Amino acid sequence: MTRRKLIAGNWKMNNTVAEAVVLTQEISNRFENDWTDTVDVAICPPYVDLKPAHTVLEFDKQKIAIGAQNVYWEASGAYTGEISVAMLRDVGCTYCIVGHSERRTLFGETNEDVNKKVKALIENKVQPIHPIVCVGESLAVRDEGTYLDFVDKQVRAAFAGLDATDAAGCVVAYEPIWAIGTGRTATPEQAEEVCRAIRVTLGELFGDERADDMRVLYGGSMNEGNAELLLAQEDIDGGLIGGAALKAESFIAIVKAAL
Ligand code: PEP
Repeated sequence: MTRRKLIAGNWKMNNTVAEAVVLTQEISNRFENDWTDTVDVAICPPYVDLKPAHTVLEFDKQKIAIGAQNVYWEASGAYTGEISVAMLRDVGCTYCIVGHSERRTLFGETNEDVNKKVKALIENKVQPIHPIVCVGESLAVRDEGTYLDFVDKQVRAAFAGLDATDAAGCVVAYEPIWAIGTGRTATPEQAEEVCRAIRVTLGELFGDERADDMRVLYGGSMNEGNAELLLAQEDIDGGLIGGAALKAESFIAIVKAAL
């Protein structure tokens, strides 16, 4: 088993087109393509910044992937404000974050919605967009001690109806809500415990061979100071980075920690 690490930056609702171009260029200037022998890197800007960011990377011939932060499952039609999988593909996306806790808590996204989005993203087998499925418990659930069960249910719901072939290329990100944007990181042991449990769930769903191939990321206040220890854990295959992805220096430092 050799899982390549994935470092993905979630820019959230930050950066105008001009700012996105500057940040992408700063990341590109510091990035060395041969790092992609061992680590995959993606940036996930807001929708309007996807094409401009992709253009910068394409011009620089950088092997940094582009990802979206959300998608809608229908192919087209009267869905005001939504964006389809084909539209994401058209602007160069190869990843899409699904079910981020901010979408679940602020925008009412359900486990069923997450499942429909995952299915829509992988439907086109020739050009799938890899879902980065976010799961993670609140502080109340953590304190109750039922977090492993909670996360297990989220993973099963996200992948309901899919088989091992469908699951190839899908990524899971364990993001405890109490660690997102709070500066309070899970310890490497806490993060590893849940990432390991996620892999066990994936093994029950898809078989051990597929589960061994699938990447499980950690996200939640990962930064240049704590990345190395988190990424050294056996079942942590990379990071989903929020705040620290908004500065080229800190994002690149985390990429280097994954090398
Ligand atoms: C995130 O929102 O995906 C995230 C991990 O944010 P932060 O790194 O800022 O905690």
